[in-house]
Amino acid sequence: MELTVDLGARSYPIYIGQGIIDNIGAFFEKHGLGKNSPHLVVTDEHVAEHHLPRVLGLLGEAGYKVSPYTVNAGEKSKSLAVLEDVVGVALDAGLDRKSSIIALGGGVVGDLAGFVAASYMRGIRFVQIPTTILAHDSSVGGKVAVNHPKAKNIIGAFHQPEMVLYDTSTLQTLPPRDVRAGLSEMIKHGLIWDSEFTAWCEDNADKLVGLDPEALQYGLYQGCKVKSIVVSQDEKENDLRAILNLGHTIGHALEAVAGYNELVHGEAISIGMVGAAKLAVQLGYSEDIYTVTKRILQKFGLPTRCPEHLDTDRIMEAMMHDKKFSGGNMVYIVPTAIGKVEIRKDVKPEWVRNIVEQLKRED
Ligand code: NAD
Ligand code: ZN
Repeated sequence: MELTVDLGARSYPIYIGQGIIDNIGAFFEKHGLGKNSPHLVVTDEHVAEHHLPRVLGLLGEAGYKVSPYTVNAGEKSKSLAVLEDVVGVALDAGLDRKSSIIALGGGVVGDLAGFVAASYMRGIRFVQIPTTILAHDSSVGGKVAVNHPKAKNIIGAFHQPEMVLYDTSTLQTLPPRDVRAGLSEMIKHGLIWDSEFTAWCEDNADKLVGLDPEALQYGLYQGCKVKSIVVSQDEKENDLRAILNLGHTIGHALEAVAGYNELVHGEAISIGMVGAAKLAVQLGYSEDIYTVTKRILQKFGLPTRCPEHLDTDRIMEAMMHDKKFSGGNMVYIVPTAIGKVEIRKDVKPEWVRNIVEQLKRED
């Protein structure tokens, strides 16, 4: 299956399929990646164990000079210190302006490697090979970043990849927790844009959680499609693109306060989407938004309740650092029906505080 992210001169394809990495050499040739310059595959320790030898072997056979760089798994690798290390390795390997950085992994590796590609020699080419379900979101759209201890994704750029090579066979080695967390973003894509796809997700929850290849391929295709339509209309998040942040205002804050091990990204935004649905009902929209959102997330085994021990003041403080304010009010993505959202700029921090308190009492 193939989709195009339509961005004029920066347009690129997303290839999705079982086993497509086997043709990686042909994809590289098709996209004009040079054999005279070295390339760098950035991955993490878990992905390296399962999938790096295959990628290095196939690219080597196809005549590409490729070095690997493996970071520790987890959010902590999205840091300036790791960025400096990767750049050091890129220099030692002789990467030049015709080289590319290949991100083999989930959102952490994609965001880090993408920011290396955006900044090394003021920008070199970049290929995304996502290996998590969550990365159907993070690998499309060109947002790349590392974290600062005070705020997530605050040091970053827009840097679109040459292509996204999504081989669904790599997903079979994912731990169950990451499967569910990734599906949370897939559900988000339904909730913001497409009620039919949302209903399909609900009906196919067991297949998706069980990594059924056909269901996965269809779900990832639809999720990538929503993401690429939105990004094509607003590459640099001037307006529409903000809708992709459904569940993320509370979600990012929970991740920051809980620590990235207690709550992974997809889990945090699951709780955040329940929060947004609660806010919608309080703003006068249908009660169904809350009932359906929560029911779907629970069907996927995702959390819908904020851990009680997290301090509400600290959660609110984390939101203040999260660049989502306009005047004294918060910019907030509020569902207005299943499959539709609006961007509200009049949400008072007190209302959100109240929602966080309520989320601690959810079942
Ligand atoms: P991740 O990259 O940490 O991957 C999750 C875990 O799965 C890690 O332990 C990883 O080692 C392991 N893993 C990855 N692929 C595997 C495989 N095939 N088999 C076995 N294990 C595998 O996290 P993620 O959930 O993919 O991404 C989360 C990150 O994405 C966050 O940093 C978030 O900020 C970022 N993100 C970015 C965007 C964007 O637009 N750039 C969008 C959404 C999320
Ligand atoms: Zn997200």
